[in-house]
Amino acid sequence: MKKNILIALILIGVAVAIVVVQPWPAGDRAGSLPLEPRVLLIGVDGMDWGRVERLVEEGRLPNLAGFQREGASGVLRSIAPYRSPSIWTTIATGKTEEKHGVQGFLVDRGHTAVATPVSSNLRRAKALWQILNAADRTAGFIGWLVTWPVEEVDGYMVSSSFFRLLEWDRRETETDTHADRMAQAVHPPELLGEVAGFRVAADSVPVEDVARYLGTTDHLDDPEVQSLLAELTRIYASDLTKLALAEHLTRTVPTDLTAVYFRGVDLTCHTFWRHMEPEAWPWELSPEAVATFAPAIDRYYEQTDVIIGELLDLADESTTVIVCSDHGFAGHVGRADFEGEGATGFDMHREEGVVFVMGPGIAGGLEVADATVLDIGPTVLALLGLPVGRDMDGRVLTEIMEPELLELRPVVEIDTYESGEATEGQEPIPSPIDDEIREQLRSLGYIE
Ligand SMILES: [Zn+2]
Repeated sequence: MKKNILIALILIGVAVAIVVVQPWPAGDRAGSLPLEPRVLLIGVDGMDWGRVERLVEEGRLPNLAGFQREGASGVLRSIAPYRSPSIWTTIATGKTEEKHGVQGFLVDRGHTAVATPVSSNLRRAKALWQILNAADRTAGFIGWLVTWPVEEVDGYMVSSSFFRLLEWDRRETETDTHADRMAQAVHPPELLGEVAGFRVAADSVPVEDVARYLGTTDHLDDPEVQSLLAELTRIYASDLTKLALAEHLTRTVPTDLTAVYFRGVDLTCHTFWRHMEPEAWPWELSPEAVATFAPAIDRYYEQTDVIIGELLDLADESTTVIVCSDHGFAGHVGRADFEGEGATGFDMHREEGVVFVMGPGIAGGLEVADATVLDIGPTVLALLGLPVGRDMDGRVLTEIMEPELLELRPVVEIDTYESGEATEGQEPIPSPIDDEIREQLRSLGYIE
């Protein structure tokens, strides 16, 4: 029934379509545009435009340089106060925080002693996976923020909490079963076994693999260096896990939209910025840690470029690939608000994130001038030939599309994808790993 209404809405939408460009004569390339377009969306938390530009100039990010040459790229402006759960939900909905309702990492309604990590039921706007499914298109999401508990999706969804929950199983607990917990972390539940098998355990990573991020290996017996190295290894293993999963699921469960989220750039920036710019860090640092980790951030950008290259290999000729971040990264240099202990991890973020788009019908060598995180959702819909909601706050980045593409798939609008069901006043759903999440947020400086 719901589906029929939606199809009717889409037909009405088509009938009253607003074509935002003048019609162009069909070019030769129109014939090569895919009739069943797909999108691969690669989310890189905290990737900063200024740093990418410098590293591209230095020849250190060959895959992103390829995007710049053959696709459209530029600054993706974020929305203050640059809180990742809010922004990734904005990217997935095309809507502001006021409309989608997801704010920071924790939710405090005053009912519990400690704030609860944000959960997916608090989202009040339709996300891309719901919009696609309602139009009989499939979606696969891996590790996207605020996807716990997972939603029933035609395609698949591996929650951002999946691997932590998997680890939790090894501990003693009597309150709930492994199967119950994991059914909330992956959909469809039949995927549980194979998804779990792709976990790259931090203790299985050879030290040589992470040694290439280090300025020196002379201090590996130093306790502080050891503990930071263990952190870097966990970050690396977690991104490798997401890559392995994306490679596997893209082959075995192909979907119209595949999205995968990587957190390593943001985490290395939070952890190692002080070693990169020790003169700007107000507290004492061990010289051994500085010597070891000073180059870790730039080298992790290189690692992320390698990951992006591996994912590019998965994209066929009908796939448009988008790389985007939720915010850039300022660190603590020259920031008046990063003077005292009261400064938070969010204060290290800044407005200038990145967007890279490459694929059939996307203009080559184009610099995107005026894009924001609100525009990714509508642009994904348009690339897939789906209508954009007029109640979305972003716009389709039509300037990156060649005339033939816009002629084949003109931008179509409908009033809304929302059902009008009341979703206010939901409480966050607690999970067994809440303490662990709070502990990580504390170590990143997000909470006291
Ligand atoms: Zn961050």
